[in-house]
Amino acid sequence: MNAIINDIEIIKAKTTKINEVDFDNLKFGQVFSDHMLECNYKNGAWEVPKVVPYHAITLDPSAKIFHYGQSVFEGMKAYKDANNEVWLFRPLENFKRLNISSKRLAIPELPEAYFMDGLKALLEVDKDWIPNKEGSSLYIRPFVFATGKGFHASPADEYKFIISTAPSGAYFAGKVKVLIEQTYSRSANGGVGYAKAGGNYAGQFYPTQLAVEKGYQQVIWTDDTNHEYIEEAGAMNIFIRINDTLITGPTSDRILDGITRKSIIDLAKSENIPVEVRKISVKEVVEAAKNGSLKEMFGAGTAAVISPIDGFGYQGTDYDLPKLDKTYAEYLKKRITDIQTNKSEDPFGWRYKV
Ligand SMILES: *Cc1c(COP(=O)(O)O)cnc(C)c1O
Repeated sequence: MNAIINDIEIIKAKTTKINEVDFDNLKFGQVFSDHMLECNYKNGAWEVPKVVPYHAITLDPSAKIFHYGQSVFEGMKAYKDANNEVWLFRPLENFKRLNISSKRLAIPELPEAYFMDGLKALLEVDKDWIPNKEGSSLYIRPFVFATGKGFHASPADEYKFIISTAPSGAYFAGKVKVLIEQTYSRSANGGVGYAKAGGNYAGQFYPTQLAVEKGYQQVIWTDDTNHEYIEEAGAMNIFIRINDTLITGPTSDRILDGITRKSIIDLAKSENIPVEVRKISVKEVVEAAKNGSLKEMFGAGTAAVISPIDGFGYQGTDYDLPKLDKTYAEYLKKRITDIQTNKSEDPFGWRYKV
């Protein structure tokens, strides 16, 4: 039966795939819910989005996404608490960042209501797809890309905004060994590193493959000028703990303004954990590893929340991180996930009820 939620038309799938899904053994982003939000940009305006059955899309071979890479995305999660209430985490931050990314790639920005009301309508229709098992969540992938035709190297005249969702288990990468990159760069001054552009990921894959061949799981990106300063851990922001101080680099053209990153900074401050937002050099980290003051390194992002780093390689030498009984990584991850899943107070107002 079709319906309208928040002025958004809902076209229901005729059948559901939900009974084929093993909710006790969910991987990350492998199975997709019954519906998706779809919204087209045509004749100079975004049309009202619709919730439609999850379906494949057909594009003209000359669609500009294929040639000129106009594509941006977001990553978010919805959680179900013990009372089956549904929560998002700082969703307006994702909406704003999607438009910041779009603007940089000359993609038309979306109205807030299309994003927020569209997302809420989609979550209402696919509510049963939101897992409530500890550590599980519904991973949400909003994205915008150029569908307009033509080989001319200019912005497309048509675009598609889609939100699709995937019930996912805990994203557990295990402890990773990382390589401090000295040749390749993820981003550059004046570039698109601050945007969540698909192409930023494409550019990371090859250097990461090379690191994997050398026995590392991930690359630590350094500044593109001299590879002197630590910038990000793969597609996550990075935190480094020296003695009891937590350090992360300032956001810039080159460093993505992660929502997990800024939540960790606020949370740490409120718990009297010393935090410094400043440039941190590879040299400082290597020195700290040598003199024993380097306590922890971890990545921060929506998928894993916090992903601890076990050790790093730099100029042919491997450095191990100490094994601590109590880590900031574990503590902060619990604090954030407890807020996200409505298990604790939310003094920051980050939780958003759907
Ligand atoms: C998405 C992303 C992050 C993490 O951002 P969150 O908002 O915390 O998920 C960090 N760095 C890069 C390069 C990213 O693409």
